[in-house]
Amino acid sequence: MLKPISSNDPSVEFCLVGTGPVGIALALELERRGHDVLVLESGDIEVKFSEASGAEIVDPHRHVSMDLAVCRALGGTSWTWGGRCVPYDAVDWMQRDFVPESRWPFGPEEVTRWTRRAAEILNCGERFDVPYPSKLIDGLNLDSVECWSRRSQLMLDRREHILRSERIRLSLKTTVTGMNFSPDGMRVESLEVSTPSGPFQVRARRFVLAMGGVETTRFLLNVQQKWPARFGGIDGPLGRYYMGHISGKIASVLLDRPRDIKELDFKLDASVGAFYRRRFMFSAEAQLRHRVLNTAFWPDNPAFYDPSHHSGVLSAVFLALAFPPTGRRLLPEGIRLAHTGPRPYPLGAHMRNAVLGAPRATADLYKILRDRFLRKPRKPGFLVSNSGGCYALHYHAEQVPNLHSRITLSRERDSFGVARARVDLRYTDQDIESVIDSHRLLDQALRANDIGRLSFIYPEKQLRDRVYAQAADGYHQVGSTRMGTDPRTSVVDSDLRVHGIANLFVASSSVFPSSGQANSTFLAVTFALRLAEHLDAQREARNADAIPLSGPPFDFVNAGGTLARPCGDV
Ligand SMILES: Cc1cc2nc3c(=O)[nH]c(=O)nc-3n(C[C@H](O)[C@H](O)[C@H](O)COP(=O)(O)OP(=O)(O)OC[C@H]3O[C@@H](n4cnc5c(N)ncnc54)[C@H](O)[C@@H]3O)c2cc1C
Repeated sequence: MLKPISSNDPSVEFCLVGTGPVGIALALELERRGHDVLVLESGDIEVKFSEASGAEIVDPHRHVSMDLAVCRALGGTSWTWGGRCVPYDAVDWMQRDFVPESRWPFGPEEVTRWTRRAAEILNCGERFDVPYPSKLIDGLNLDSVECWSRRSQLMLDRREHILRSERIRLSLKTTVTGMNFSPDGMRVESLEVSTPSGPFQVRARRFVLAMGGVETTRFLLNVQQKWPARFGGIDGPLGRYYMGHISGKIASVLLDRPRDIKELDFKLDASVGAFYRRRFMFSAEAQLRHRVLNTAFWPDNPAFYDPSHHSGVLSAVFLALAFPPTGRRLLPEGIRLAHTGPRPYPLGAHMRNAVLGAPRATADLYKILRDRFLRKPRKPGFLVSNSGGCYALHYHAEQVPNLHSRITLSRERDSFGVARARVDLRYTDQDIESVIDSHRLLDQALRANDIGRLSFIYPEKQLRDRVYAQAADGYHQVGSTRMGTDPRTSVVDSDLRVHGIANLFVASSSVFPSSGQANSTFLAVTFALRLAEHLDAQREARNADAIPLSGPPFDFVNAGGTLARPCGDV
């Protein structure tokens, strides 16, 4: 007899929602620890944007539209992310009086033991400190590296395992739309889901939401409409402190020894077969002394879209990216659009650059295409070197937690009847000023270390406006279900359990109280692994019963190792 998952079937220990990098990490770790886990995923095997993720963006200049920011599919946004893995730095865990409301309930020791496993899941190297060949002064740090995923589309490596897993039960095209609580309100009893066969309730002992930063927040805000006292109450902490990063280019870096660029370019760590790249950073002590926010810098190509770079190869790359059929094959859409810049495109000037620079461009282009498409692992990016040692300088910086930077609910609803998110990402004067101050400090430090110097691309009096104009995100979704000890100012506790609800957890970068300079996925995955350990240790009663393989009203894509009766179009 085929058994449905119904409100009378409490056999499921863990129900996990979402299969992005965070959901995948959690499912794999629970599986490794011998647990059965039911995974609900709104998307399908095939990757496409779902209208259900659409949100109202208050200022489209500050936040990309959701079709560029998230992906509803098995594998989540790992289908389009860049694959840059960066851990948080020592300074991020410290109490800084000039960064109010950035307190973490524990220190880095809670997560560092998961670094190796997170790197394994994200397919990247695990050495985030590679000593720079010379000793540096003035707080300058060049040891810190970002590691790149060997194959950023995580499902290409994991799909078969997940689909054939005996313990991970996956249901695609299963969109979670609501939540039901026990009469005393202390436990989640079931999730409301919408599937192609109709709406159902899914019961489990523990629920973990790993739907991405904005989507998890939006879901909880929708639940709160029905249960206004939940999650700190209406107008409480849920949805507040929404952060990303502030990044762009306002300066060039001129290296004293142009050959030093080799040390600052992407490098292949042959021992792990993955690329890494050094960044200019400041020690925690220097950041605290100068009261600047955490910021990383690296030499970069000038903006492709601005033909004043007069580079044949950069213009040729621009032309390839500007033509959508080729551009979309080369880069994820969000990254492609960032490189093609504003319209109208100065196509004539780019063609002139490409023709005049043809001899060198041909050789450079061959190398870029070879490294990106023929070699394995493929190079995550490219830097066109020049004999003058002059490069654009990219900054990627923290923004301060801001109560008024916020996700709320829109009046509009998606096709499942769930209110869309209304996203109001804001930057503060402190964010802007810190970027400029950090550039000045870097200039001094580069000079003191005889490495080089900076020169601003814009006149001093325009710098604030230029940084503000570049301030936008939506890719890194941090802070809106923040972690803390006080339910009045945070949504989850240090175990990622939603305050006041015994069996509901959030696994997402949205729990981070501060954004650091680091891209958020690596730490979010680390947290998922830590959560798996916690769930394992705290489990109420191990349930050895396998979940029924398939049957009305609820089918699984995988069924105990055989791909039977798929719910999605496998
Ligand atoms: C263009 C781009 C480049 C990026 N580059 C980087 C980078 O280089 N480094 C980095 O660290 N980060 C990067 N990011 C961010 C990174 O993609 C995210 O941090 C990461 O994907 C978050 O993982 P997640 O599992 O929390 O969420 P997601 O990957 O968004 O997955 C969420 C999952 O939940 C599912 N879901 C949502 N709602 C529901 C629902 N109601 N019911 C059921 N399922 C649901 C979705 O379908 C999806 O599968 C980038 C993002 C983009 C868009």
